Amino acid sequence: MALDDMRPIQERCSNCSFCKWIPFDKQQSLRFAVACPSIGYYSWNTNSARGRMQMGRALSAGDIGYTEKAVEIIHSCLSCGACDVSCKICRYNMEPLENNMELKADAVSKGHILPVQAEMMESLKAEKTLIRGAKKADRTAWAKGLGIKDLTKEHADVMFFAGCKYSYDEKLQPLAREAAKLLLDAGTDLGFLAEAEMCCSGRAWQMGFFGEFKAHAENNIALIKKAGVKTIVTPCSDCYHAFKRLYAQLGLDVEVLHIVEFVERLINEGKIKFTKSLDIKVTYHDPCHLGRQGEPYVPWSGKEKKIRNQIHTWDPPRPRYNGAYGIYDAPRNILKAIPGVELVEMERIKEYAWCCGAGGGCSETDKKLSEWTASERITEANTTGADVLVTACPWCKSNLSGACGEDGKSIEVADLLELVRKAM
Ligand code: SF4
Ligand code: SF4
Repeated sequence: MALDDMRPIQERCSNCSFCKWIPFDKQQSLRFAVACPSIGYYSWNTNSARGRMQMGRALSAGDIGYTEKAVEIIHSCLSCGACDVSCKICRYNMEPLENNMELKADAVSKGHILPVQAEMMESLKAEKTLIRGAKKADRTAWAKGLGIKDLTKEHADVMFFAGCKYSYDEKLQPLAREAAKLLLDAGTDLGFLAEAEMCCSGRAWQMGFFGEFKAHAENNIALIKKAGVKTIVTPCSDCYHAFKRLYAQLGLDVEVLHIVEFVERLINEGKIKFTKSLDIKVTYHDPCHLGRQGEPYVPWSGKEKKIRNQIHTWDPPRPRYNGAYGIYDAPRNILKAIPGVELVEMERIKEYAWCCGAGGGCSETDKKLSEWTASERITEANTTGADVLVTACPWCKSNLSGACGEDGKSIEVADLLELVRKAM
């Protein structure tokens, strides 16, 4: 697809603004009814999916050109997909997230990128990671001494993919070690790509750098196929989305599990047992790319057509991604299995969850939007009375932790695996 191909969808946008709010039947208060962080922060229609439809149509029709402001707005989308869920509640033929992404890709293809993005892409090229300042040579430091097999030298059934955030963030590295140890202790035949490992490049896709994403993904797919693994397990929700949805589209055909799914399986098989009670009240933050965007890829090819030159449809019908089949139960089932954990839910959860603020590369490209979005989530978590805000993604943990301490707002932010380890 390209931006021009989105025209029928853009013209079908009814300007109803449903995409700005969580589904009406899920709203419990006006305070936490907004779905889109970009319009929530900027209070400007063009920042919403509705505005992005209008901007996309005007750009592809040549009615407007790229301006500095337009480029800023295009890249101030967290790619969180909340708009997509709300729009599709009562529409079968709209794709707001796809339009947001094609807008970004069009801007990128014409050189309209932010200076920070240029630095991130330079890092991807030189050091195989989007994390600026990180060095490829340091990528495997977190795994030292663990005894995980090197898949470029020997076979293992399961590939562990820590991802860039866990690999390079010193505060998060111990968690990557714990995650791998958990799997090894449960008897998993575990390997990783070691020195050959590179960024999944999912964030490049999220920022609209489709060409760079594809090139890196194809290199990774070749490595994975050569290793002959049966399953990929990752503790990062962005990597999960990349492998499960984007790589599958490029021909990767192996089982992809987020670590919460694998841990739930190990608990059910009796390979992980809990011996301690934690006696805490927790609330759970659904990462966007594990939840609503964690639905598996469904192959499709077809074309758009009109019935009686009036009703738009796709022939054959397109797969409908609306967040319904994301990963919501596994993390909640794990929390319920841990002795002494009481789970209390926030108002915006599952497919209509609020983003942590790190999506779409915005934790680096639009820091104010990113920090505000995280701070809103901390406020929401505080209203539940929970002691701990639990999540299952290093980007969410890092961004949400960073928002604590401002305006007197605070809550302990933990990765679900930390609780699992503590209770064993
Ligand atoms: S994108 Fe969807 S929900 Fe938003 S204004 Fe258009 S039709 Fe309405
Ligand atoms: S993807 Fe998220 S930030 Fe972007 S327009 Fe949709 S709801 Fe707003």
